[in-house]
Amino acid sequence: MKRLYDIAVIGAGIGGLTAGAILAKKGYSVAVFEAGRVPGGYCTTFRRQGFTFDSCLDAVSGWGEDGWLRRIFKKLDIEKNVEMVRLDPLRVDNFAGDRVNVPGTIPELINLLYGIAPGEKDGILNLLDTMEEIYRAAMSTPAEVLYAFPGMRGIIGRYRGKSYKELLDEFITSPKVRAVMCDRCAFLGLPPSKVSALAMTIMFMTYSSGGGYRIKGGACNLADALVRALSENGGELHLNAPVSDIMFEDGKARGVAVAGGKIRARAVIAAADAGAMRRMSGMDSIGNKPSISFYMVYLGLKGAPEIPDSMGCYPGYDIESTFSDVARDIAGPSASLEIINYSRLSTVMAPAGHTSVMLMSKAEYSYPRAWDECRDYEAGKVLSLAERAIPGITDSVVFRETATPVTLEKYTGNLRGAAFGWEQNVDNERVSSRARPQGLFFAGHWTYPGGGIESVAASGLAAAESAAAAISKEAFN
Ligand SMILES: Cc1cc2nc3c(=O)[nH]c(=O)nc-3n(C[C@H](O)[C@H](O)[C@H](O)COP(=O)(O)OP(=O)(O)OC[C@H]3O[C@@H](n4cnc5c(N)ncnc54)[C@H](O)[C@@H]3O)c2cc1C
Repeated sequence: MKRLYDIAVIGAGIGGLTAGAILAKKGYSVAVFEAGRVPGGYCTTFRRQGFTFDSCLDAVSGWGEDGWLRRIFKKLDIEKNVEMVRLDPLRVDNFAGDRVNVPGTIPELINLLYGIAPGEKDGILNLLDTMEEIYRAAMSTPAEVLYAFPGMRGIIGRYRGKSYKELLDEFITSPKVRAVMCDRCAFLGLPPSKVSALAMTIMFMTYSSGGGYRIKGGACNLADALVRALSENGGELHLNAPVSDIMFEDGKARGVAVAGGKIRARAVIAAADAGAMRRMSGMDSIGNKPSISFYMVYLGLKGAPEIPDSMGCYPGYDIESTFSDVARDIAGPSASLEIINYSRLSTVMAPAGHTSVMLMSKAEYSYPRAWDECRDYEAGKVLSLAERAIPGITDSVVFRETATPVTLEKYTGNLRGAAFGWEQNVDNERVSSRARPQGLFFAGHWTYPGGGIESVAASGLAAAESAAAAISKEAFN
């Protein structure tokens, strides 16, 4: 390890790795410091008894032609180094047994919704036109400006500060159409009445127009492609290297402290948990809360039961109420459940004649019983929910493991196991680039635009460009 770099990056999640890889490609000397023993953060893969699971991911957006993830991989010239498989259908919504195959293109989605509510054709068209307009405007506006700049006009100004429910209320009454349009609320961790109309629209449209993708062979392959791009361009990744402090000189970030000593750098990109980063940088705290967390049951099944690649199971058409009891009971009567089949599209994920599945329930860090005491009991309850959607699944289980909000926090440092950084509520208040001390930049899901692989990759690109611009303007001494 050298003692001086152009840029030190804290955290090797997709946000930090993207920033590091872009800067290395631009010719800067870069070192990425990662507390854990593998790169990827939430975007990692593990193997048990022949079964392979992604620790967290269901589907990734941004791999369509104009998606941020694809654009970044093209920029790095590593588009061919990862195999992405498009989900078809995008997902299956299972509303108490009423199954809907949700497509990953807008024309097919419009047809589907027309079929569900023929009397609401105008509302459906106007809603999707409005969402398309928001999405296009958002794609050409820097993420922080979108949410934090007070003078936004036009379609963005109209919906900023509004909830997704308020947007839907303008156009749609059909409970089933509304349910399909809200089926990805769990991807932002908030119910329709609380999630930002802008954030939800952008996320919904990126999946609905560009498609949702599985990373073939496991999510680790996405992280590994970025690691290779980093190292092939002379950058360094240091694993088992937690950063304990950010060093400042004359009010400017000038390096990081790691176990091996102090590392000087001309700029620092913080791409790890915002709480720790703020503590190290002495920034004021912001009022927002951490986003929701999840509880996972990883299952190895014998045989190949008919399980869709990605299925959301809901007790009815009311998506709002699936959030109401999460803090008390993750598998109660109002709970929803995501069922993810990893091995249908990527057969290497399970031994021959077997299937790798993840059950994912929304969860809070604070629960009536300590997570370590109740994780096995809760697995039984979550399996019962899955049994309703996939009869017989329980009898085919040959391997089972669980992860809780506490596990997520333990392995990634994310405060309270937050899945998406700060909550993406109507204010979407995140770590601001304007508030940072000089020489310190942020990437990852605690900054703008927010949670999700595509978003954090975009944040990594933005941080890399800002850091490169800043250090090229000053002489280092
Ligand atoms: C259960 C679950 C399901 C999800 N499903 C999806 C999905 O289907 N699609 C999607 O797009 N997104 C999904 N997400 C969200 C997505 O995974 C995250 O938003 C994204 O991966 C966050 O990336 P990041 O780079 O910001 O941070 P992280 O992935 O959290 O990485 C941060 C890294 O920083 C390291 N670190 C922390 N502190 C330090 C320190 N002091 N020094 C050095 N290193 C440190 C950590 O070890 C970690 O590796 C899901 C998240 C969860 C939890």
